[in-house]
Amino acid sequence: MFENLSERLSGVFDRLTKQGALSEDDVATALREVRVALLEADVSLPVARDFVKAVQDKATGQAVTKSVTPGQQVVKIVHDALIDVLRGEGDPGHLKIDNPPAPILMVGLQGSGKTTTTAKLAKRMKDREGKRVLMASLDTNRPAAMEQLAILGAQIGVDTLPIVKGEDPVAIAKRAKTQASLGGYDVYMLDTAGRLHIDQELIAQAAAVRDVANPRETLLVVDGLTGQDAVNVATEFDDKIGVTGVVLTRMDGDGRGGAALSMRAVTGKPIRFVGLGEKMDAIETFEPERIAGRILG
Ligand code: GDP
Repeated sequence: MFENLSERLSGVFDRLTKQGALSEDDVATALREVRVALLEADVSLPVARDFVKAVQDKATGQAVTKSVTPGQQVVKIVHDALIDVLRGEGDPGHLKIDNPPAPILMVGLQGSGKTTTTAKLAKRMKDREGKRVLMASLDTNRPAAMEQLAILGAQIGVDTLPIVKGEDPVAIAKRAKTQASLGGYDVYMLDTAGRLHIDQELIAQAAAVRDVANPRETLLVVDGLTGQDAVNVATEFDDKIGVTGVVLTRMDGDGRGGAALSMRAVTGKPIRFVGLGEKMDAIETFEPERIAGRILG
């Protein structure tokens, strides 16, 4: 997922670690290259700039150039700075689903992978925590999307709320809540309608559902291949609806990875999970250490 960035950085660091002694100029040159590599990976400009500055400050402060293995020290500082920029607060994989039935609201643009992610997370909660999960599709504009959730539910052995023709999203959310309470479910997931772009209707609908469901978690699903656009979408959704975390999908693709690096720094919202394929198990908790390791190879 970070192949290009990883390759670029390893080139820079190979040169640094091969040199015995390093001058401050050598470090400054390397960091300029790091900055370019980040920008090419579609990391937002302020984030790339702050990142390089943080590394530079530490590298100077720790008298790296005078140490015995200056190159390795710089790599270590970059590694730690990557973790800093990636890390949110708390455990990203921990969903607040105590006090059943806990509502989880899923929001995002059409095609982002929202329905797939809803099912992946439901399966994860069922398999790992033995939770009883109910999923409901609120995408009344697209009957196919409602069908898709029902098909996925049957595949993974998770119940879906029966589809009632002509019902609006708020009514479906209310019915899901009642059904979840009566049926003794631990969690109910509301898969809201997506659209190709953020518009008034999309936001109004998601906000109306949020107001009746009072979700414990509101997870925004965004396509990780879209780079800075993913971050812009997240900013807008958070402003208008409020989200508790982000799921970045298609991280198995050859995206440049910038969205992962910019997301928390720009939006203040943590990435909670990453989607790594179409299969129902292809989802992982977002772990800064592992991501930093992947980036630095
Ligand atoms: P929605 O319109 O946001 O509900 O999107 P869908 O869940 O229908 O997903 C759209 C397409 O993206 C489907 O073909 C999914 O299988 C695929 N998809 C979803 N998440 C991932 C992912 O993490 N990696 C890959 N490669 N494909 C994904």
